[in-house]
Amino acid sequence: MSEGVLPARHEVRLRTDQRHAGGYAPRMRIYPKRVRGPFRRIKWVLLAALLGLYYLLPWLRWDRGPGVPDQAVLVDFLTRRIYVFGIEIWPDEIYVLAGLLILAALVLFWVTALFGRVWCGFFCPQTVWTDLYMAVERLVEGDRAERIRLDKSPWTAHKFAKKAVKHLLWLLIAAATGGAWIMYFNDAPTVTAAILTGAASVTQYFFFGLFTATTYLLAGIAREQVCIYMCPWPRIQGALVDQDTLAVTYERVRGEPRGPLRKGAGWDGRGDCIDCGQCVAVCPMGVDIRDGFQLGCIGCALCIDACNQVMDRIGRPRWLIAYDSERNLALRAAGKRPVYRLMRPRTWLYAAATLAVAAGLAGWLLLRSDAEINVLHDRNPLYVTLSDGSIRNGYTLKILNKTRTQRRFALELAGIEGADVRLAGPGGLREGPLWLEAPPDGVASQRLFVTVPPERLRGERTDLRFLLTDLATGRRFEAATVFRGPGSRLP
Ligand code: SF4
Ligand code: SF4
Repeated sequence: MSEGVLPARHEVRLRTDQRHAGGYAPRMRIYPKRVRGPFRRIKWVLLAALLGLYYLLPWLRWDRGPGVPDQAVLVDFLTRRIYVFGIEIWPDEIYVLAGLLILAALVLFWVTALFGRVWCGFFCPQTVWTDLYMAVERLVEGDRAERIRLDKSPWTAHKFAKKAVKHLLWLLIAAATGGAWIMYFNDAPTVTAAILTGAASVTQYFFFGLFTATTYLLAGIAREQVCIYMCPWPRIQGALVDQDTLAVTYERVRGEPRGPLRKGAGWDGRGDCIDCGQCVAVCPMGVDIRDGFQLGCIGCALCIDACNQVMDRIGRPRWLIAYDSERNLALRAAGKRPVYRLMRPRTWLYAAATLAVAAGLAGWLLLRSDAEINVLHDRNPLYVTLSDGSIRNGYTLKILNKTRTQRRFALELAGIEGADVRLAGPGGLREGPLWLEAPPDGVASQRLFVTVPPERLRGERTDLRFLLTDLATGRRFEAATVFRGPGSRLP
């Protein structure tokens, strides 16, 4: 693969066309220039917040009582739980994660329909880490012109030292990233000490190495190639945007015909674009936004900052590059006033779906039970006819106690009048009053038998409910099953 330096203008359209044609364009090295402006500031704030959250979250503690992990956010394979501050997700609640993923996807659809690739430009981990890596690169090797000069210069001790420092810093960031990742699955202080002293497990070293390597390669080496060739999202988001989506846009009507600014020349008969190439020079993707909407543009808005600075310098109005829609481009071309339609059928639909899933998750959080009751009917035999003619069924009742205290439950039956229940124990069958103990943070399992006079049954299957009442709190739990009579068979 041949490599070259991406010029600030002219050749980008060709590269973009090659990508659209489905081929692999030879990689042109991109040297993004430093830029200042409101969008750059927003990106710095988000970068600090998102990376700070990622690196520091595993170190936050959350007291859950003795014998329980005190890490605020932890996926614990040992106890098969996910801890998120005061919320504890048990294996039987794993569907909540599916709900969270659906919610995240819907928010992404909604935001994309409103503002194009704002996720890619501001929030995507690939963008955030690449931005950090580029900041380190700029710190060590200088801005665009210095970096181009350095790369073209022959290898000297000075060049070697700069490259070595840059890659060392990149590797340290990568190691911190890989280390932080495994802390979400292990106690952070313990696994950090283990990694540093060589006492970690093979699995821990494997994932630490894997995430260190991928961070270094994706953010340091592959960079824009990930967004263009590896990520499916640019292809998917094409189906989510429409003519009213606000995306980073070059105001062609105002900018064309473009041309260099000549001293003393007026603005009559020409556009505001002075073809300075600053919008391309700052672009981390090497895109020329003046060529229109493109697959390579991640919507980071840095070209807006760059062009606004140029407009300030030449005394022309800002926002030659701005967030605008395809509809407005056409309206401006026709000499009409632009219209902004944020809420339209598809954005209403995404908003409604997002709110519905969010309400469902909030409902789960508020109404989730601190105990689960399961009843398993004996399969063999399905029923037994006793000497007095009454029918007996056997069951196994399981109580999952999700609290950290021992609990005692009173047991009752409902659904069949005159049903008699007895618990199986070491001394035989125990008669009422019936209560069951459930250990803290564990499962109680109890065999029991229900006997019913035949005249109370409604056919081969009669609905039956087990009612459990927590004797300390009065909370009631219910599990439905069936009582099987003569003639009943397994399906
Ligand atoms: S920064 Fe603005 S003026 Fe300069 S080339 Fe880009 S669009 Fe034209
Ligand atoms: S064209 Fe502008 S918005 Fe798109 S990636 Fe480049 S700098 Fe960011």
